[in-house]
Amino acid sequence: MINPISKFAPFLVGEYPKSFMELVNNITHHEQMTDEDLKINLWKAYEFGVRKHDGQKRKSGASYFHSHCLEVAKILASWNMDHITIIGGMLHDTIEDTDTTLDEIEQEFGKDVASLVNGVSKLGGISFSSRKAKQAGNFMKMLISVAKDLRVIIIKFADRLHNMSTIKHLSRIKQHRIAIETRDVYVPLAHRLGMAQVKWKLDDLILKTLNPKAYKDIDVKLKSSNKERIKHINLITKSLQDELSNYNIKPLLYGRPKSRSSIYGKMVERGKPFEEIYDVLAVRLIVDKVEECYLALGVLHQIYKPIQDRFKDFIAMPKSNGYQSIHSTVIGPKGKMVEIQIRTKDMEQTAEIGIAAHWRYKSDNVHSESIDGHVKWLRDLLEILQSEENDPKEFMHLLKIDLFNDEIFVFTPKGDLIQLPVKSTPIDFAYHVHTEVGHTCLGAKINYKTVPLNTALKNGDTIEILSSDSQSPNYSWLKFAVTSKARSQIRRFLNKKEREESVKIGNEILNKGLRRLKILNQLDKIKSSYSRFGFGGEIQLIEAIGKGEISIRNILDKISPNNEDIKKDDPPRFLSFKKTENKNIKLEGISNIMANFGKCCNPIPGDNMVGFITRGRGMTVHRVDCKSLPLIDEESDRIVPVDWEVGKKDLFNVRMKVVGQDRKGLVKDMTETIAKLNVNMTSVDIKVKDTVATAILIIQVKNLKEFDRIVRNVSKVNSIDSVERAKH
Ligand code: MN
Repeated sequence: MINPISKFAPFLVGEYPKSFMELVNNITHHEQMTDEDLKINLWKAYEFGVRKHDGQKRKSGASYFHSHCLEVAKILASWNMDHITIIGGMLHDTIEDTDTTLDEIEQEFGKDVASLVNGVSKLGGISFSSRKAKQAGNFMKMLISVAKDLRVIIIKFADRLHNMSTIKHLSRIKQHRIAIETRDVYVPLAHRLGMAQVKWKLDDLILKTLNPKAYKDIDVKLKSSNKERIKHINLITKSLQDELSNYNIKPLLYGRPKSRSSIYGKMVERGKPFEEIYDVLAVRLIVDKVEECYLALGVLHQIYKPIQDRFKDFIAMPKSNGYQSIHSTVIGPKGKMVEIQIRTKDMEQTAEIGIAAHWRYKSDNVHSESIDGHVKWLRDLLEILQSEENDPKEFMHLLKIDLFNDEIFVFTPKGDLIQLPVKSTPIDFAYHVHTEVGHTCLGAKINYKTVPLNTALKNGDTIEILSSDSQSPNYSWLKFAVTSKARSQIRRFLNKKEREESVKIGNEILNKGLRRLKILNQLDKIKSSYSRFGFGGEIQLIEAIGKGEISIRNILDKISPNNEDIKKDDPPRFLSFKKTENKNIKLEGISNIMANFGKCCNPIPGDNMVGFITRGRGMTVHRVDCKSLPLIDEESDRIVPVDWEVGKKDLFNVRMKVVGQDRKGLVKDMTETIAKLNVNMTSVDIKVKDTVATAILIIQVKNLKEFDRIVRNVSKVNSIDSVERAKH
């Protein structure tokens, strides 16, 4: 029920409450709507919120709507958001905390507001527990709602910022939990969305909550040095202003200390006290046009000497979150270093509120191109989310890499600039250029020299991809591909191929098996019975047979349970899928497989391994970095991932190479050290050349961890220089 008096009173008397006008005055984004219409729209939501939250109080004792919901709306207004988002912000807690229904909101305020409020309510229901997979899954849900409408996440940030700034009213335990969640989830996301202002505000509030003493210390020191700092800033800004006026540039200049959290970060990183952190201060120089940025830079460097290596041009090379600015640290007045940030007004807005600055509401197309273009990583993530495969662990891995690593810049042979995450390899580069280029990547040249595909790219490298139509992705690529795009494309390709492979094997098993049992005439009947085994079609049934998930015995038992002739027969053993003495190996998807260890690299549990399907000899197992594996040639499609299935008592031979100065008692000391660790040694071979002794020992270990322990202990033996795993 709507109370007509409270709704209409402001119009009649032409006066709105003070708290409401504070919101209106915060609005800077002007849409195609008169100020009066805007006020009417906002008032309706204000009145609705006040009524719905009536009687609710925050922990501080103040009215819930005024001290929280309205504050969130004010933050959104200050970020230039459209009135739909501001209304969404005002009503963001109505579904969760009052008896309001979604239908009611839709009826009163339309579909858009309703979907925003619904999105924010859904996000509120997600809690980020410490369990990894669960967290990743939640993260995913969160991002899916981002995909639907980025404004949901922007409202959530305003909500979180306000909750963090009023956190002192909560219990210590709650404060701690919320601060950790903010640190682990919201801060990285704010960084990625380019919301620098939100990020540093949150960072400061997190520091204040989790490390109040450090925060207080810095705060006190900043305040006590404030006067001096203002004087210093005035010296710098005055001289720059004077000089720039000669060029008819009237910049907006202001200086301020860096955030408490970034000062704290520097103190920890450099292990220095506050007094020795010289770059506490940053001065911003804001101009109208890009050309003026460079002109101002020239002027700056004329007045103050720049410090080498402390200059960065993010205008020419924007960060992937859209951040643009020129940074230069100079030796300012009185020999003090100061960082100057030069940018245009537009860039300033993007730098402060990131994605929110790019928000232009379009009723027909929620994803405006400018947003998508600016946040390429988001698009890549969405692509993965929309693909059939979304393993939370894999997703978390992608997210971590994408969120926390910095980027590098490399060049195509034509000189085009490409931005990739740190540790990217030629494979990532190839997939960045085009999926097809990735799929057919055979090799690569970095700076005109041929390199292995797992070489990490460095800033400024020029990359050329060599491709071949006969090449295709293989599992080993996943060991070194880091970008979301490359990893998802490789997986997609391999999954498809694995399915095809399984169908082939499945058909073979089925045909041979039925022929052997002399019931090949049942083939069609079996195939068409797929639904009895829970499959959606013939192909899926055959695929499952190929993968070993279902056997012919299982099928016949169900289809012809009374057929004694068939029952008497042994379980069919087709192909060579039976266990050999190498019971320690498990192939992904197939558990019983014939496998031999590669003699070249002797893998032990703990090593990363791959299997190589030989022609006729089943599979040989190698360490991933084994040199005898065909990494780049056309046989690499026969490389499959394998896992250990290790019994407690299983031991593995491993060759250890020990080099040291020969001396009396060396062998004895060495073997005693190993014996003390309760490890068997099956062979010792020592050669001495000049005075250098080289020993090859074969020892028996359970796994890599045990081997590493032995290496550490033997290294400590007197006169030994190096201990390592022998190659052959
Ligand atoms: Mn809230």
